[in-house]
Amino acid sequence: MTTDPIELTARLLSCPSVTPAEGGALALLEATLRAGGFTVHRVTFSEAGTPDVENLYARIGSHGPHLVFAGHTDVVPPGDVAAWRHDPFSGTIDAGVLYGRGAVDMKGGIGCFVAAALDHVAAHGGKPRGSISFLITGDEEGPSVNGTVKLLDWAAKRGERFDHCILGEPTNPAALGDMIKIGRRGSLSAIITVEGRQGHVAYPHLAANPIPVLLAILARLTDQPLDAGTDHFDPSNLVITSIDVGNGATNIIPQKAVARLNIRFNDQHSTASLQAWIAEAVAAATGEGIKASVAFARGNSESFLTKPGAFVDMVQATIEEVTGIKPKLSTSGGTSDARFIKNYCPVIEFGLVGQTMHAVDERVPVADLVALTAIYRRIIDRYFAS
Ligand SMILES: [Zn+2]
Repeated sequence: MTTDPIELTARLLSCPSVTPAEGGALALLEATLRAGGFTVHRVTFSEAGTPDVENLYARIGSHGPHLVFAGHTDVVPPGDVAAWRHDPFSGTIDAGVLYGRGAVDMKGGIGCFVAAALDHVAAHGGKPRGSISFLITGDEEGPSVNGTVKLLDWAAKRGERFDHCILGEPTNPAALGDMIKIGRRGSLSAIITVEGRQGHVAYPHLAANPIPVLLAILARLTDQPLDAGTDHFDPSNLVITSIDVGNGATNIIPQKAVARLNIRFNDQHSTASLQAWIAEAVAAATGEGIKASVAFARGNSESFLTKPGAFVDMVQATIEEVTGIKPKLSTSGGTSDARFIKNYCPVIEFGLVGQTMHAVDERVPVADLVALTAIYRRIIDRYFAS
């Protein structure tokens, strides 16, 4: 059997799967993959304080090598529907371009990989030389609590072992073939609180102003760059995202000042090393009647890198063959579910062009879907030929 990536993507786009709703998207994938000979599991994960989320795991083949494709069928909300040229959940093709929420992030990537995998399997009499799997979550754009992280754990407990993973997030800045992501920077968020003593501005000796102390801490943290970048990473950066005092009066020294910051860091640092560095700067803050402390937000992540080698080389060469562009190996951008997958197997990311992701009129040229399917198809062929 063959599956058309354009039709499959258009049908996925017509499923209103805004996180955490399944919207029919996983049911469509289940039916499509089952018809192609895959064994499909639908698993729902729960956790107090977060909505239940449905996920899908599918596999064909019973031995290695084992190539797994990861992605998410959930999408961000469309925003003002009236601002869209076409209904964001209609999957309309207009002048060679397919419109819809999730077109590039990332139902298009899923449609292309499913089509490529089914085509490969059909060309090999229904039996691939190794195993092909799909790890598809419905919780990537939301809290990411009941999604990939739990699906990976569930699969590991069933005895699933993966050799390599391709995550189909939109990685290309301008044209298909621009960029493969081979790692991601880490992310750390901190909240620094300085408490003093409230008082009258005309009698500062009776008060303890927390503001100069907070500013001194922030100056200490920002007066030098964290590093100059490494072989595969940009320089780390620290951004102060908020300074809050909440004082509307002109004659009051406030009691408390709070600052928030986020660091996107490369492989020269770790969450632990940065937490210690910030704690040291906070501990060094002094002032009579002043107390400074730091708290670290949940959901911080470490940086990671999938070192260039045979797998990355093969993917890079295949993309260049199809698109004529030699993709850059990059670790730029925000975090993705690759931060969870890297604990199980080497993972790289390659998908569509990201320009319209999360935007009004999210869309993908049909030609890009055709080319991405051809790329994935050749990658699968080569992966199992080696
Ligand atoms: Zn995405």
